[in-house]
Amino acid sequence: MTTQRTEKQILEDLRAAQSAYIELAQNPESTQAATQTAAKAVSALNTELGEYIVRGANPCECKATPLGMLKTPGYFDQAKGVDVPAVWEVGCVYCNPVLVERDDGKALIIDDATKTVKRRSFSARATTPEEAVRKWNEKQWVEDFYFDRIKGFTPVYAPDAKA
Ligand SMILES: [Zn+2]
Repeated sequence: MTTQRTEKQILEDLRAAQSAYIELAQNPESTQAATQTAAKAVSALNTELGEYIVRGANPCECKATPLGMLKTPGYFDQAKGVDVPAVWEVGCVYCNPVLVERDDGKALIIDDATKTVKRRSFSARATTPEEAVRKWNEKQWVEDFYFDRIKGFTPVYAPDAKA
């Protein structure tokens, strides 16, 4: 599929396709074929959006093509009265996150030693797809404290650490 459409246009179509699918799925008179066709349309648009996001992104170190996604759509924060920008993410679904030592990390006990670490994911996030791709290509990875999301790893916090 070739596309010159922007993410806004793809997202608009995606939202319309999602509503159409939900309507069909909730209507007992819908045929299975119609519901399946609607589901396929949603899936195709998700694929198109993903491909759109990762244009220009280098392959991962593991050689896989990274996956692009809209992590959270932008929205208007009623309470604060501000627009909260969308978060776009480019990431590898095959590479597991790793621990990296950082001054602003959390103290964990690893192999009997206390290390100040963060969890680094093989993903980059930004408020536009282009910026997420740029950060991905520059290896500006997401670093956070979700240690329990590292496969096969159970974090042991050092006694003085704020868990
Ligand atoms: Zn990878």
